[in-house]
Amino acid sequence: MASANWRPPFNIPVSERGNMVETEVGSATVDNATAIAFGEMEDEWGNAGSPWRSFYEKAAAMPNRLIAWNINRDFSPGHLFFRSVDTNRLLAMDNAPFRVHIWKPSHLPTKEGSNQVLVMCMIHNLLVLRNFHDLGAADLPIVICDLNKSELTQAMEYWVWLSRKGNTTHPDRAKKFFAVYDACDANKRYPCFLQLDLTVRKILSGGPNPVPPFIIIHSFNKTEAESIKAQILFTSDRAVPPQSIMQFWPNTCGGPQCPKPDCEPIQMPRDGKEQAWVLDPLGELLSIKHRESLESQGEVWCNHWPCKEKQTSTKKLLRCGRCKEVLYCSQEHQRADWKIHKGVCVKGTGRDPDYNGPLIGLMANGSTQHFTSWHDMVDRRT
Ligand SMILES: [Zn+2]
Ligand SMILES: [Zn+2]
Ligand SMILES: [Zn+2]
Repeated sequence: MASANWRPPFNIPVSERGNMVETEVGSATVDNATAIAFGEMEDEWGNAGSPWRSFYEKAAAMPNRLIAWNINRDFSPGHLFFRSVDTNRLLAMDNAPFRVHIWKPSHLPTKEGSNQVLVMCMIHNLLVLRNFHDLGAADLPIVICDLNKSELTQAMEYWVWLSRKGNTTHPDRAKKFFAVYDACDANKRYPCFLQLDLTVRKILSGGPNPVPPFIIIHSFNKTEAESIKAQILFTSDRAVPPQSIMQFWPNTCGGPQCPKPDCEPIQMPRDGKEQAWVLDPLGELLSIKHRESLESQGEVWCNHWPCKEKQTSTKKLLRCGRCKEVLYCSQEHQRADWKIHKGVCVKGTGRDPDYNGPLIGLMANGSTQHFTSWHDMVDRRT
């Protein structure tokens, strides 16, 4: 048996085009992009509203209430609420700031402006992907390469395969790595696949940071007639937004004047987790901390965001008496959350969050039902 920690052989020469640099797009820039998306960009679509506005209308009308929007209130980040998959809180889109970390080959322009443009182009996508998470989604990575479509597909397949097989010495590992490496090397890709692979795996190993719910792999390859959409590598299947909602996601770049169909910047998961690139969250590729964090599935936290109280078998939380959708550890925290929660609190619309262990959902006909997981609930309620 060889070592249990197989690494790509480091005697592969790493060319100059191989170095990856990480730059951070701060939360103020992300907030600014969000404000433009819901302000100037939205205005350009006129009275009918943008395709995203129509997405949120449809999503909020679904009985599962994973996205909630009181339609009497403006289309704005403070009025769009998401049910977080990890803490089961109903949080507003503007609840918590997040940053974007962009990894790119060192020869590319590092000007702040180019990063801002990239974030602006993807902002609606980033917001919907990020907001189903409460924990661990404060730093979202985008990794930039110039792979063509088939190389990118090969790379995504390699990472999914690797996560399923762990970090162990699978006999096929070197063969699979070099299949992608050689294809990229023959076409002088930036960065080389060795660097790309190391970057992705560095992010997945977490280190001092939580493993993000997904990594966006964005290619700027322009040699193919069809532009290449960025791909999403999800770090667990519950990070994939549910198909029942994502089927409504528009496939546009955001320009009201754009004549091209299907020009979204990121390949969004419209067809559910089976069609998405999903890593095995229990595989050795991901950090131990990440595996532990998945154990929080099924907990309901006090909806006052700074609070970490959760419902347990011995501690029942209080429930909002009006919508019955959210729980609180105390009346004090209910009062503290009210100025935000009142934006979505409507009598009689709520999903029942009061469970511990298996999920209990309130069905459209008013009955309650048990579910084995969040996805089970989503699938069976729609
Ligand atoms: Zn377009
Ligand atoms: Zn609390
Ligand atoms: Zn309420």
